[in-house]
Amino acid sequence: MQEALFYEQAQDSEVICHLCNHNCHIKEGGRGICGVRENENGTLYSLVYGRLVSENVDPIEKKPMFHLLPASTSYSIATVGCNFRCLHCQNYQISQYPRMHAGAIPGRLTEAADVVEGAVRQACASISYTYVEPTIFYEFAYDCCVLARGRGGSRGKAAGAGELLRAGARARHQKRLCQQRLHVARGHAPPGPGA
Ligand code: SF4
Repeated sequence: MQEALFYEQAQDSEVICHLCNHNCHIKEGGRGICGVRENENGTLYSLVYGRLVSENVDPIEKKPMFHLLPASTSYSIATVGCNFRCLHCQNYQISQYPRMHAGAIPGRLTEAADVVEGAVRQACASISYTYVEPTIFYEFAYDCCVLARGRGGSRGKAAGAGELLRAGARARHQKRLCQQRLHVARGHAPPGPGA
């Protein structure tokens, strides 16, 4: 388990998660609305760090992006869990998995380096954090982005149906993820600071 980002400790071992606008107040032993962030002894953990349930090579046109690296492929990953409960969810088997299976967290334990390596090996021009609302596996997505940038490679993006990040987290998210977009496609210079 990986300690979560964006939370604060409150009284009586309660924690408050600020990763998204739900701002869950989570008591000792409890989880947030997303079902994948748990308070253990006053520390908030991500239960889905590196626990991938989906790993696919998708055409970029499948993503909710406009004219981004057209005709390329995107290495697409997801964990279980979601901070939404949309009735029309096409991926409810994974987005609602913890709720439907007594809190179980399945997934193949994967290193961030393996994701980046997979994207390079499959000649993908980007990595997509997708299928469920990717906010809920932020910590793993972030580590993938940092490593991908180190490879001089892929453009990372959160391709959620309706990304819901709290303002403070969003600022750091944009700084960490969006400004660290990787032009994985060989021959593309990485964006400069502040790009
Ligand atoms: S990420 Fe999960 S635990 Fe954190 S505020 Fe959102 S729903 Fe609650």
